[in-house]
Amino acid sequence: MDPADSICQIGKRLDELRFAAANDGNISIRLEDNRVLCTPTMHSKGSMTPVDLCVVDNDGKQISGKKRRSSEVMLHLEIYRHRPDVNCVVHCHPPHATAFAVAREAIPQCVLPEVEIFLGEVPISPYATPGSPAFRQSIVPFIQDCNVIVLANHGTVSFGQTAPMALWFTEILDAYCRVLILARQLGGIHHISDDHCRELLAYKQEWDFSDPRIYGPNANCNVCGHETFRAHWEAVGVTQRAFPHPSSGESGIEAGQGVTTLSESDIEKIAERVASKLGKLNR
Ligand SMILES: [Zn+2]
Repeated sequence: MDPADSICQIGKRLDELRFAAANDGNISIRLEDNRVLCTPTMHSKGSMTPVDLCVVDNDGKQISGKKRRSSEVMLHLEIYRHRPDVNCVVHCHPPHATAFAVAREAIPQCVLPEVEIFLGEVPISPYATPGSPAFRQSIVPFIQDCNVIVLANHGTVSFGQTAPMALWFTEILDAYCRVLILARQLGGIHHISDDHCRELLAYKQEWDFSDPRIYGPNANCNVCGHETFRAHWEAVGVTQRAFPHPSSGESGIEAGQGVTTLSESDIEKIAERVASKLGKLNR
């Protein structure tokens, strides 16, 4: 498919999925000769046509397009610079994954097999003002070892060899986060065992899917232990409050915690106080 048509199609999909409110989000595709086709600023992703798109060079300088390019395209260029295998980048604000970005809750591992196969460990990058030089730098430590990054207090960015793949990773992540939030309301989640997860990693290896748990320095150690990105948690403020792994020894916070349950004697004491106040008022 023509790259401009691909971007417009992904834009429509983001709009249908409600992953980009108003003019949120941006999409790009790598072209030949160090050029990148990208979405314009201040334009709804659901109503773009090919003439609305912009072309920028490797440094973000606009080469063509009537509308101004998004400032967030610099984030995309950082990904293309570090990942020659990537040809499409999708940034948006999918609500369930963004809830994890706001809570800075680690995306749990070893829960759904498809998530282990297609995503693996998902990092949360530190917060930085969107469009600033710090913003593009914030994702650099994570780009090599994943295909989707949760941006703290902001949204997500996913990337792939093809345009559909780049979008799939966001869709899979947001669907996963939605299931997690729903399951927690039912009382919590169960993890699959490390051994079952190793079986999934064997499939990944067979299918030639990349995963640092196969090739990284901690390969096959603690496959459910967030080994790849845990070193960044403290600086980013990432915790496992809502979804602790059983091996962490953390009890986490229970669903509904924060709601105070009053005992019968508490209620009696309050009733007595109210009655005495009413008595004083009636005097
Ligand atoms: Zn954004």
